[in-house]
Amino acid sequence: MTQNTDYNLSLFERAKAVIPGGVNSPVRAFKAVGGTPRFVKRAQGAYFWDANDQRYIDYIGSWGPMILGHGHPAVLGAVQKAALDGFSFGAPTEREVELAEAIIERVPSMDMVRLVSSGTEAGMSAIRLARGATGRSKILKFEGCYHGHADALLVKAGSGLATFGNATSAGVPPEVIQHTLVLEYNNVVQLEEAFALHGREIACLMMEPIAGNMNFVRASVPFTRRCRELCTEYGALLIYDEVMTGFRVALGGAQSVYAQHIPGFAPDITVMGKVIGGGMPLAAFGGRREVMELLAPLGAVYQAGTLSGNPVATACGLATLKEVSRPGFYDALASRTRALVTALEAAAADEGVPFCGDSEGGMFGFFLLPELPQNYAQVMRTDGARFNRLFHGLLDRGVYIAPALYEAGFVSAAHTDEDIAATVAATREVFRTL
Ligand code: PMP
Repeated sequence: MTQNTDYNLSLFERAKAVIPGGVNSPVRAFKAVGGTPRFVKRAQGAYFWDANDQRYIDYIGSWGPMILGHGHPAVLGAVQKAALDGFSFGAPTEREVELAEAIIERVPSMDMVRLVSSGTEAGMSAIRLARGATGRSKILKFEGCYHGHADALLVKAGSGLATFGNATSAGVPPEVIQHTLVLEYNNVVQLEEAFALHGREIACLMMEPIAGNMNFVRASVPFTRRCRELCTEYGALLIYDEVMTGFRVALGGAQSVYAQHIPGFAPDITVMGKVIGGGMPLAAFGGRREVMELLAPLGAVYQAGTLSGNPVATACGLATLKEVSRPGFYDALASRTRALVTALEAAAADEGVPFCGDSEGGMFGFFLLPELPQNYAQVMRTDGARFNRLFHGLLDRGVYIAPALYEAGFVSAAHTDEDIAATVAATREVFRTL
């Protein structure tokens, strides 16, 4: 690189001429934080290098999938071997069966699973399945939870419970979202009111058990219990969107964490993505056998995909699941992640910065707030300008966190104690400038 050439900037300019906003998914454009997105050249372990050959400690990991770090040898080997046997057949393969078996073996609430290619597809299909299973139309979701960009889910809360929501995107007709009810996360009173008003028309309640799309907000145990009880009482299906939390917070997903507090707890349908594909386009939805058997070709709920169960993606996912299933994997990952958050809290306290954080397994969040928020509105009380200064201060020091204050962070098995220490030291420096 010549001294004054910023290859990220020139790539961004080139990209903007041919791709809307220069990116293929909006958050990558750094719109919230400003500045030039880093174009990734290559990645290894806990790091990636940008177009200027600048190295970053990566706390995004492709937004969750890279739980082993980049370029894990066993995963790389499995993908290379699978690629030699063919990219895609449009006919069944043994590896799809193996991956389905591997998933349901580890997540007891799933008797059967169908593989798809993105979290959006999985979420959208799960809702169609729930509507097909119940013969009902209404769906219930929570503000701040993201379940992909299917039309019916791009909705924010309306002015009142009876009014339903408003679209968060142009191009979504009101008719398409008229059945979507949006409630406040962790608000038991609202939840009870919604079921009292509409309970017998609700096909499903869909939720992120630990919401990673409003940074990191846990559903409280009483709230989770009420979600389960009300769904059961009114005959609605409880859909757990574990696209982010599945195989990320624990081997059995977030549902296994809640089952420790609520005996017998299980969702009816689980949506997964990210880690189960190990960085390849792969996602899934699954649940009880009688529900899953309503899917075509057995049942009347149609769902399909040309690349579903792709042989290279399933090889990547299987190799990843094999590695995370090694004894002690999640204990080590969780303690390293917790160590990061604890050290950041200590540094913030030293520097007089209001700050708090939380983590589960290899997923974490932190806030420039004095205490942990419980819902989207509380998350959004964060001083955005201050967050942006933190983001850019870290970026300048070779630490890459999410370029938006409402996104979670991810630690991989490749992050070392030295990486954590370097991150904390960099953050401490930035805290002094806030
Ligand atoms: N659900 C959750 C919880 C997610 O975090 C995401 C993506 N971040 C999705 C669904 C959508 O997945 P995809 O981007 O693969 O469509």
